[in-house]
Amino acid sequence: MKTWLPHSQNRPKLLIVDDLPTNIRVLHELFREDCDVFMATSGEQAISVCQAQLPDLILLDVVMEGMDGHEVCRRLKVDPTTQGIPIIFITAQQQESDEVLGLELGAVDFISKPINPTIVRARVRTHLTLKLQNDLLRSMALMDGLTGLANRRKFDEDILADWRQCFREQKPLSLILVDVDYFKRYNDRYGHLAGDGCLKTVAQALSETVRRPYDLVARYGGEEFACVLPNTGLSGAVEIAEKMQERVRGLGIEHSASDVDRVVTISLGVATLTPTRDLEFQALIEAADKQLYEAKNTGRARVCSSAMSSG
Ligand code: GH3
Ligand code: MG
Ligand code: MG
Repeated sequence: MKTWLPHSQNRPKLLIVDDLPTNIRVLHELFREDCDVFMATSGEQAISVCQAQLPDLILLDVVMEGMDGHEVCRRLKVDPTTQGIPIIFITAQQQESDEVLGLELGAVDFISKPINPTIVRARVRTHLTLKLQNDLLRSMALMDGLTGLANRRKFDEDILADWRQCFREQKPLSLILVDVDYFKRYNDRYGHLAGDGCLKTVAQALSETVRRPYDLVARYGGEEFACVLPNTGLSGAVEIAEKMQERVRGLGIEHSASDVDRVVTISLGVATLTPTRDLEFQALIEAADKQLYEAKNTGRARVCSSAMSSG
């Protein structure tokens, strides 16, 4: 089936903001077949719909009772969660100075009232295509090609953001570092392709162990994985690490060259810190790494952890 947009698997989300419902109705008719259309009749409502729905594009009326379109745009652009949403202003005013102000506020385009359906559809299509391409590139840049997990770059971004969030809320942040045991021997015995397959299966098992939306499982390096758990204390993190350990062993992937078992196993290091002003997130990585080293040195196929006081 040929889709209206070349890069969309899901229907794009379009938010239409206008204080006159009749104007919204016209635009809704134009897009309801191709988009999930959301509507707002005030600036305040527009902002709350944006935060809840994260639309892919906003058609924003400039002149409205109460909070006007320019103010809505200003507010959306200072909020990191909404600042990436492209905005097209819809305006009856045809003054160049208005366009300049809108562009300075971060709008991507203008459409003037009364609207011309062909022009509106063409412009919306262009900006939705750009937005979806951008989303796709961004998600590819943050994904590990072999396993489909988050990659090291995404891990670095997330752990920093989580560290800051946990600092603000004074909540513990936990990190589990995972390393496949005797994996070099696995490659030597079964071949590199089988090794790749093994990493994929292990990655899948690890990611199925975490459930909360803010938990992250990433590929940290070659045969190493990392799991970041915000608002999670040491005992909760150890519980998850134990589950990972069980689950990977339970996959029953034959590894006759391993010294610890007949199947593929993993070693895990767990650390938890509540961020303080004097600490950086690298301290958490070092602490988990130390525990992983401990797990490797005390026999592999196990979880090691430490409670670290930050005072
Ligand atoms: P240990 O139990 O001490 O962790 O031993 P190990 O052999 O797992 O550790 P080492 O660091 O010596 O070897 C890791 C191996 O992982 C070496 C490397 O070839 C392999 N590896 C890293 N990335 C990939 C990959 O993407 N695919 C495959 N097949 N192998 C990989
Ligand atoms: Mg390793
Ligand atoms: Mg290893």
